[in-house]
Amino acid sequence: MADLCINNIRMQFSGVVALSDVSLFVNKGEIFSLIGSNGSGKSTLFNCINGFNHPQKGTIFFGNDDLLKKQPHQIIQCGISRTFQNVQNIPFMTVLDNILLGAHHRIGPKSTVKRWLSQKQRVTEEAMGLEILDFLGIVNYEQKYIAGQPYGIQKLTEIARALVGKPKLILLDEPAAGMNDQETDEMAKIISEIRDELGITVLVVEHDMSLVMSISDRVCVLDSGKVLAIGKPEDVKIHPDVVRSFLGDFTNA
Ligand code: ADP
Ligand code: MG
Repeated sequence: MADLCINNIRMQFSGVVALSDVSLFVNKGEIFSLIGSNGSGKSTLFNCINGFNHPQKGTIFFGNDDLLKKQPHQIIQCGISRTFQNVQNIPFMTVLDNILLGAHHRIGPKSTVKRWLSQKQRVTEEAMGLEILDFLGIVNYEQKYIAGQPYGIQKLTEIARALVGKPKLILLDEPAAGMNDQETDEMAKIISEIRDELGITVLVVEHDMSLVMSISDRVCVLDSGKVLAIGKPEDVKIHPDVVRSFLGDFTNA
C-alpha cells in the first residue's frame, strides 16, 4: 500500500523550474532512494513534502492527509520527520537537548509559556531521547555540547531529532555526505535498522551509490527536475536513460 503519493508536482522559483511533473509513490515499509546530480531537485522535493516549499501544481498525499494544505508543524503531526543536507543543530545546546527539539509538536501551549517542557514531560521525553541515542550508538554523547563534535555525531544527532518526532516516514537528506567509508557503512546499517527495527518507512537522498544500491528497495533518478527512471536498484543501474545521462551516450562514438 502506498504511504506517500506524489503526483505531477511542479515547483518553480522565478525563472528556475526545480521540479517538473514529478510523480512517485513510496510504499509503507520501503527504503526508497532519490538520486540525481546536484541541482536536480532532490532537496526541493523534500521541501515540498514537509511544507517548506509550496508547489504551483500537483498533489502530495500521505495516507489520507493532503500535505499541500498543511503547515510544516502539522506535517510532523501526520507522521513525517526529516533531516537536512546541511546539519541544523543548535551549537550551544547539548546533544540531548538538540534532539528533544524534535518533540516540539507534543508540547502544549501551557508548558511552552512556563518553560519549554514541564518536569514530568521532560522525564518522559528524555527517556525516549536516551533510548534513541542508544539505538544510534551515541548515548555517551548525551550531555556533550554539539559544537565541536565530529561530523558523524552531528549527522546522527539530526537523525535522532527526527526519530524523537515518532515518525511513520523519515526523510533523510544526504545522511552519508562528508563521511568516510567506515562511517558510510555504519550509516547504511542504521538506515536499514530504522526500517527493520523501528518499522519506519524511509525516503533517502544520497550520492553514495554503493550505499543506495545496497539498502534500497526502489530508486528514483531525478534529472533537471524530471523523473528519469524509477525501479529496483539493479534495473535502474542499467536503465538506458540513466546510463546515457550519467555516463554519456557512446552509441555514436
Ligand atoms: P539537489 O538537492 O538535487 O541538489 P535542489 O533541490 O537543492 O537540488 O535545487 C534544485 C534547483 O532549484 C537548483 O537550481 C536550485 O538552485 C533551485 N532552488 C532550490 N531552492 C531554491 C530557492 N529557495 N530559491 C531559488 N531557487 C532554488
Ligand atoms: Mg540537495
